[in-house]
Amino acid sequence: VRANFSEVQDENEEFSGIITVISDVTEQEKVERERREFVANVSHELRTPLTTMRSYLEALTDGDTWKDENIAPKFLSVTQNETERMIRLVNDLLQLSKMDNKDYQLHKERVNYTDFIHHVVDRFELNLKQEIDIKRNVPEEKYNVWVDKDKVTQVLDNIISNAIKYSPEGGEILVEVTKEKHQLLTKVTDEGVGIPESNIDKIFDRFYRVDKARSRQLGGTGLGLAIAKELIEAHDGEVWAKSKENEGTTITFRLPLMQKKRGQRK
Ligand code: ADP
Repeated sequence: VRANFSEVQDENEEFSGIITVISDVTEQEKVERERREFVANVSHELRTPLTTMRSYLEALTDGDTWKDENIAPKFLSVTQNETERMIRLVNDLLQLSKMDNKDYQLHKERVNYTDFIHHVVDRFELNLKQEIDIKRNVPEEKYNVWVDKDKVTQVLDNIISNAIKYSPEGGEILVEVTKEKHQLLTKVTDEGVGIPESNIDKIFDRFYRVDKARSRQLGGTGLGLAIAKELIEAHDGEVWAKSKENEGTTITFRLPLMQKKRGQRK
């Protein structure tokens, strides 16, 4: 806490009192520290793929390596993957920056959430490359929410793709929807590596990863859950995680249910 004192004079320029301003600098310092950490993180995240690409390109241009049919395609594919990841990273950063500046709009519409969830999970099942079983527990009854469909799709994409990424081969993922008072809860549970108890809330922080190397290797940017949290909160919802190391993780978010108008039939 910082205190500033200033003397106050009356109209005859005589001393009449002291004004004390007490400000909470800890909050200011925290914001400043977070900003510095963020810039350091961004620089580091961009430097890593760039230095990787540089060494692979150097190796390719060294002598005749680029003509080597066994080596060249592999090295090119590494640089391609790193480029893709940098593009994802920059896109994620731009999206977060827009959200920070409130420079975006939600295009909300009435969405039948149960149909919507099935549609999203169907799409994942079609594109699954691993032996992973996605189970669903979704009510038959139709529940409507008032949301931006693209944004909630993005939230589900981030959460379900994490569940897949951190699952073992042959693992099971459960997608559940339940109604709780005026809220709809969506839970995604996996049987993956889990997250240490002490770090559980940090996974929604920008760039936080339990295992940096592993996340990078899997193509992660460390921003997926931070974006998901911002988007859910923009819909007056909340997102949280529960996990046990080596047993699995559950990510849950709630969204307000659209109220049925009085007199409206089911
Ligand atoms: P990333 O791109 O690294 O996946 P996210 O923001 O999506 O970034 O997630 C942050 C971190 O939280 C991940 O790096 C991982 O350590 C942890 N995490 C997220 N989801 C899961 C999960 N389902 N199982 C285990 N760890 C997870």
